[in-house]
Amino acid sequence: MEHTRLGYWIKEAGDVTPRPPLDDDRDADLLIVGGGYTGMWTAWHAHRLAPDARIVLLEAEPVCGRGPSGRNGGFCEGMWRSLAALRGRWGDGAALAIGHAAEAAVDRIAAFCAADGVDAWFRPGGYMAVSTSAANDGIGVASIEACRELGVADKLRALTAAEVRTRCASPEFRVGMMEPGAATLQPARLALAIRRSLLEAGVEVHESSPVRRFREADDGVEATTATGARVRARRGVLAIGGAAKGRGGPLRGRLTIASSHIVITEPVPDVLEKIGWTGGEAITDGRALVHYFRTTPDGRIAFGWGGGRIAMGARLHGRAEVDAGVVETQRRHLLEYFPDLVGRRVTHAWGGPIDASPMHLPAVTSLPRSRAWVAAGYTGNGVGPTNMVGLSLASLALDRTDDPTRLAFVDPEIPRVPPEPFHWIGGEAIRLGIESKEAAERAGRSPNPVAAAVAKVPELIGFHIGR
Ligand SMILES: Cc1cc2nc3c(=O)[nH]c(=O)nc-3n(C[C@H](O)[C@H](O)[C@H](O)COP(=O)(O)OP(=O)(O)OC[C@H]3O[C@@H](n4cnc5c(N)ncnc54)[C@H](O)[C@@H]3O)c2cc1C
Repeated sequence: MEHTRLGYWIKEAGDVTPRPPLDDDRDADLLIVGGGYTGMWTAWHAHRLAPDARIVLLEAEPVCGRGPSGRNGGFCEGMWRSLAALRGRWGDGAALAIGHAAEAAVDRIAAFCAADGVDAWFRPGGYMAVSTSAANDGIGVASIEACRELGVADKLRALTAAEVRTRCASPEFRVGMMEPGAATLQPARLALAIRRSLLEAGVEVHESSPVRRFREADDGVEATTATGARVRARRGVLAIGGAAKGRGGPLRGRLTIASSHIVITEPVPDVLEKIGWTGGEAITDGRALVHYFRTTPDGRIAFGWGGGRIAMGARLHGRAEVDAGVVETQRRHLLEYFPDLVGRRVTHAWGGPIDASPMHLPAVTSLPRSRAWVAAGYTGNGVGPTNMVGLSLASLALDRTDDPTRLAFVDPEIPRVPPEPFHWIGGEAIRLGIESKEAAERAGRSPNPVAAAVAKVPELIGFHIGR
């Protein structure tokens, strides 16, 4: 098994020639820091809204999309399954507006992937959430109910155990929920395709250009890279993912950096045929430390687990990316879910940081002078929503006031998380408590009362760990 930080998708997508680092000072209309999906979709939308705008994008890695954007599970979903949470936080109208905006983002990604020359394996097979213990049999009920009450009943529907089995027969699965509008894609191929379209549109992209200093002034923003080169721009966007925990202005101290890891098998089309998983569904279980899995065109199973360690502060590397212990546990879980894989090879493993927000929802927040904005907090559901958030960021940066700038995730109230090291100690205790409780539930045992009590803490304080 090849266990690396970058993983299978980035290798499969192939090499591209890196863009040269910024070596000289520049002036621009819009500066974007971070070349993951959020930064790249922001540039993509901004170019469409204002084709003459001079846009500069600075990325720290040698190539854009090498962070979580190129390494994720490739579940491309809207936010209907968060409808109950959205409604509870911001009310019916705001929740529906975000639901529709996130759905439109998935439609835009589908159209982008259908364009000539883009082969990102976009497959609209829907998303299925399944219960794997009696404790989770209410899976999706709150959001299905919210969809029905708000007049969008077709977005989510409950599945019986028999319906779940016909889509994918695992001995672990019980009842489920289906979101038909979701898809899977190859994340690194998508990242490279957006990057290519930005270069073709004339966006100035500089890679290996980590921004060391970013400041807002009355007339705009200024960023300085590691080599001392500067960009001065009228407006700025910080799309730096989990790094926003350390330097994200208003998001500082409001994120948790969890981690998630993926293993992928050799092609096993015969197993997929046998268990009936041929419809391309993206599947998750109902656990707090969620398992998520999908297939590929050549018949592999990619199997992810949100049970990785919590990082201290804003550390995005180390065991957030490569963690042999977590991956070993995950390989065991893979066989429990799909016993027909015994004797089949896991070929690759990798991982990455998850920017978890205490709201379980992404947020766009303004820096004090409203010359720059920072966006993060996708909590493991960013593939679709980054396109929606990118549109809001582009609109804000072009001084527009329109529907995307009025969505409720723009400048929301975000609860603080405790300072370090208490946050890390508490987060790890909660993660281990949840892991122990969920293992007991799976085995049909009563959870240890201490683990059960600790596992309840996130619910009580509105804190989420996520995918
Ligand atoms: C293992 C894993 C599985 C996941 N599975 C799914 C899934 O199936 N579906 C889903 O919807 N979501 C999933 N996610 C989450 C999803 O990948 C993210 O929400 C999404 O990629 C966030 O995009 P982003 O652009 O905001 O952040 P990132 O992808 O983190 O991009 C931020 C970029 O900013 C750059 N950067 C940081 N600091 C600087 C600096 N100072 N100067 C210049 N550049 C900088 C980084 O190098 C990086 O390229 C998963 C995440 C992981 C890790």
